[in-house]
Amino acid sequence: MALLAGKSGVVVGASSGIGHAAAMLFAEEGAQVAVVARRREKLEDLVAAIEGEGGTAFAIQADVTTMADHARIVAETVAAFGRLDFAFNNAGTIGNFVPMLEQSEADWDRTVSTNLKAVWLSVRAQAAQMRVQGGGAIVNTSSWLAIGALPGSTVYSASKAGLDGLLRPAALELAASGIRINNINPGGIDTEMTREAFRHDAAVLDAFGRAHPIGRMGTPRETAELACFLLSDRAANVTGQAILVDGGYTIAGQRTT
Ligand code: NAP
Repeated sequence: MALLAGKSGVVVGASSGIGHAAAMLFAEEGAQVAVVARRREKLEDLVAAIEGEGGTAFAIQADVTTMADHARIVAETVAAFGRLDFAFNNAGTIGNFVPMLEQSEADWDRTVSTNLKAVWLSVRAQAAQMRVQGGGAIVNTSSWLAIGALPGSTVYSASKAGLDGLLRPAALELAASGIRINNINPGGIDTEMTREAFRHDAAVLDAFGRAHPIGRMGTPRETAELACFLLSDRAANVTGQAILVDGGYTIAGQRTT
């Protein structure tokens, strides 16, 4: 049986990269999906692609740094589908990937607001709905950089480490309501974000890919596969876990970047 057959949920940060691949995959696995991001045109193209494959989806244009948008996303999803069985909180920003001494307070605020505070707000709104329904599953996208480091990653690493910190107490609090919550921690994944981070040096981007023990960066689709499993009932005994999906990059201990 399809992993998400009969389920309804939301992918936040679905207009490109991992979230786009996730929305396509979840629909293929039987879910009805609300897709959320700021770029409406990209969302509408995604909805058309899902519907073209026989799936069900609709777009919600929202900015996760706007507090009121979190309740609206849940309300519009429940109005359309009747339930919120799962949520994939994947929206994120690389921020300004520069040395710490060059980083501004505004960079800190923008990155932490998107990568950490917005997920806290999302989870609160989603879990309130799931508790009323009797359960649900949530996955957030963290990063290998929550436990690793690159020059320039101070703010990004702090925001993702904060997300892994949020995860464990949230899992304890939500378990009694039948809600599971996990993080996926990707390594280098070939998306707009990665190309932006390495925009000054294609050779370094290439070396970064080859430094993964599997010999390349991951694809958005294979990253989404882990989220799909964690959101499905087959992961019924998994909660509070931050799981690397990084082709062995983090354990390898060797860096060319
Ligand atoms: P991406 O293609 O740039 O996707 C980022 C997504 O987040 C887009 O859909 C973007 O949509 C959305 N987003 C960003 N800010 C938003 C906001 N304020 N409100 C609503 N949506 C917002 O990059 P990606 O690589 O797929 O990243 C997805 C997640 O994976 C991020 O959390 C990232 O930190 C994490 N990650 C990526 C890698 C990697 O190597 N690529 C590694 C580890 C972790 P709009 O711009 O349309 O709003």
